Parts: sequence; structure tokens; C-alpha cells
Amino acid sequence: MSIPTTSIPTILYVMGTGRSGTTILEIVLKAADDVDGLGEMTHFPRDGVILNKECACGAEAHACEAWGPVVKEITRKTPNTLRNLNKRIDGHVHFPLRAFGHFGDLSSYKIVNQAMYTHVHFKEPVKYIVDSSKYASRPLALKQFYPGSIKVIAITRSPAELLNAFQEKNEDEQKPKSYLMAALYYFFVLLCMKITAVKFKGDTVSIRYEDLVTDPDGTLTRIEKALGLDLSRAKHLVNTNSPLSPGHIVTGNRLRKSASIIFRKRSSSLEENEHLPFFAQFLSKVMTHYRNLLGF
Ligand SMILES: [Zn+2]
Repeated sequence: MSIPTTSIPTILYVMGTGRSGTTILEIVLKAADDVDGLGEMTHFPRDGVILNKECACGAEAHACEAWGPVVKEITRKTPNTLRNLNKRIDGHVHFPLRAFGHFGDLSSYKIVNQAMYTHVHFKEPVKYIVDSSKYASRPLALKQFYPGSIKVIAITRSPAELLNAFQEKNEDEQKPKSYLMAALYYFFVLLCMKITAVKFKGDTVSIRYEDLVTDPDGTLTRIEKALGLDLSRAKHLVNTNSPLSPGHIVTGNRLRKSASIIFRKRSSSLEENEHLPFFAQFLSKVMTHYRNLLGF
């Protein structure tokens, strides 16, 4: 039996590199009316189903009121290959194949991911759900079967800040990367993001992390206009320094573990170049040109 498409929520997909503010963007978006956030859904089969990690609501995933039904549905229907199921389709290494429309066998992937989006139990049904999985391949794969609309928000962070951010050891986030590895990663991922953005033309918008933190109101307005959303409640909460709730998120960075989050607006865009060694400053300059060239 097929579900009428009108009742299927639109996916707001947050695409970006690691450490580029995807989690805070999701938490801000979900503060809007008619929007709820799911977290990094690409990792849910592992973190939620297999490892039964704790949800932001305090319950373990299997016992969480929102995710319990999803776990039940997935275990009832699926496959023994859950652990690497999404990584095999969404992972960066396979992007060139995905860009050319080669997805391989999507049958198990479809069952699992469809269950995540349609069986998650929110108190009130919403029109939009945020998936902040980051990978550029994922929206291309989802487009092959998801019956609702998918809109893509690309977020990029200034190279100097990103190079610095990748030096820190953050539990739960991507491992630290050397300056050179972080730069290569940035070149590759931004190219993948560009290709996905072109494929979602008309349903995509690009924002910069530094704009989001210095001018959240203006940046959210750009997202509203480009994607036809109403984010006024989110803007109001951010502008009045009100606490934002992470809601039910099992997968994502450590931010989700806070009971409530105050969005900290910055007065100006920090130029962190001076903290970088000479080689990294050089990389940062090349990366900045590259980012501008791709229009991010
Ligand atoms: Zn929960």
C-alpha cells in the first residue's frame, strides 16, 4: 500500500564537511514551526539500532518514544548487514559512482531508510524533517526512492576555522586531521557538494557557517526564501537568546547531549589565520579561492 505523498514530510538535508556547524544548523532549523530534526540519519542503523545509544531525550534509542517504533520496524524487516549498509551507499569514496547514477542494489537501504523517515514518532506530525548526515551522496540515493520532496542546504566553513577545528580532539566527531589531510578532504567534499547542489538546482541553498553565527537572522531569511520555508519561530528564539532544544537526536556531535542550547551569535567573523602555521595559512588561502570558485 502506498502512502499519499501529501502526508510525507519533506526532507531538509544538511550537507557539509565535518566540523562545519551542521549540528547547530539542524538545532536552529528544528526550532521553527512544522520542522523536526532527526540527526545524522546515515549513522542511525549503527548508533540507534545496533549500539542502542542514548537519545538526546535521555532514553536509550530502543526505549525512546520517537525512535523505538523505528528500531522495531527495522529489526522486524531487516537485514543482517545493518552496520555498513548506509556507509556503503552514502560514504564519500563512492561519490563518483553516485554522481553518475550508479547506486547498486538499494533494496535493503531503501527499507531501512524509509523506515527511519516514516516510522519516527513525533508528538505532532510535521511538514519538514531535518537530516544532517552531511554526505553529498546521500540525497542522491534518497532521491531514487523517497516519495516526498528533498531540499538540500549546503553549509561550508571558512578554511582557516576548519583547519583549526580539525586540530581539536572531539569525542563523537570526526577524528582530527593534519592540515594537509584536512585541505584534501575539503577539496574533495566541496566538489561532491557542488555536484549534488547542481543536481538539486531549485531545491538547494548554500550558506556559510561564519554568516550563520554573525548574522543568523539574515542567513535564515536566505534559507526561507530559497526553499520556501517559514523559519520565523527559529529566528525569534535565536534573536532573543532563548534556549533551543535538541529534541530526539541519537546521532550527531556532542552538542545533542545538552538539554538546551543557546545559540551564541558572534559580533564579527573571526579571522583565525594568525593562529595557523605558515604552511596552513598557505593552504587556507588556496582553499578560500577554491571555495569562492565553487560558489560556496
Ligand atoms: Zn528520544
